[in-house]
Amino acid sequence: MSCGWTPIQKQRLIELNASDEQQEMLFQDIQERNRTFQELEQQLVKKGKMKLNELKEIKRRPALAELESKLVDVLTEKGFVQVVTPIILAKGLLAKMSIDDNHPLYAQVFWIDEKKCLRPMLAPNLYSLWRELIRLWEKPIKIFEVGSCFRKESQGQHHLNEFTMLNVTELGLPLEKRKEWLEEMTELIMKTAGISDYSVITESSVVYGETYDVVSGIELGSGAFGPHPLDQNWGIIDPWVGIGFGLERLLMVREGGQNIHRMAKSITYLDGVRLNI
Ligand code: ATP
Ligand code: MG
Repeated sequence: MSCGWTPIQKQRLIELNASDEQQEMLFQDIQERNRTFQELEQQLVKKGKMKLNELKEIKRRPALAELESKLVDVLTEKGFVQVVTPIILAKGLLAKMSIDDNHPLYAQVFWIDEKKCLRPMLAPNLYSLWRELIRLWEKPIKIFEVGSCFRKESQGQHHLNEFTMLNVTELGLPLEKRKEWLEEMTELIMKTAGISDYSVITESSVVYGETYDVVSGIELGSGAFGPHPLDQNWGIIDPWVGIGFGLERLLMVREGGQNIHRMAKSITYLDGVRLNI
């Protein structure tokens, strides 16, 4: 009879970023398992300490901040303008996205008071900016934002309550360029994130109807096209295209990990290393 890790051992190994093979190991008996656990834990703790030391002495920035900077650099080089908008969102702006009491996303919204919530997405603010910029700048309007978004999620390994969204958009481009734009943008972002193995599928989304999804085991990003029925709420008539990626998901896939919490904004992990080591 062979045996695997106890649930507590397995949990600890996940926290310490053990590989899939290490997590699936089997043993002849309990003594052998417990001995191996001690050795493996020591080894992983040592690795974690080395990584923390590297952060302190060499890197000085965690992967999440590094990726954000790289993305900002490549996108601004491509002519996109970075915008930074408020995390606190008025209820009216959510309603303009048709996210009202009947909408599935509505239950995931963190409310601050009756009229204000934490943004679950960047789109409402980007729509608001488009509406102004369309008068002020020549088309196409190329803007992007990267920042925290918040959703009440039934906690899993792929969902965070606070995550970092990158949303890249272009308004006023020729209709026939939209698909190509999404493909090129996906390629650019995947290359910058260091992910080569991904595929693109189309799915239907509660907010946008038909969507363009980038997948690598899990969903990494979702693209959308306009003209779209929501556009009229913002006085937008030009064609547009946009795509949103979760930075923690990109990092999780790049690092081959199982646990998105390692890559998140955290006081439990630092640059992917569990601090209780
Ligand atoms: P999922 O179906 O995986 O819950 P979604 O389709 O609801 O994701 P979108 O609204 O399309 O997510 O958001 C764009 C991207 O933001 C997703 O592709 C994903 O990378 C990221 N994302 C969304 N929700 C979360 C979350 N709770 N934690 C981490 N990343 C998230
Ligand atoms: Mg999606």
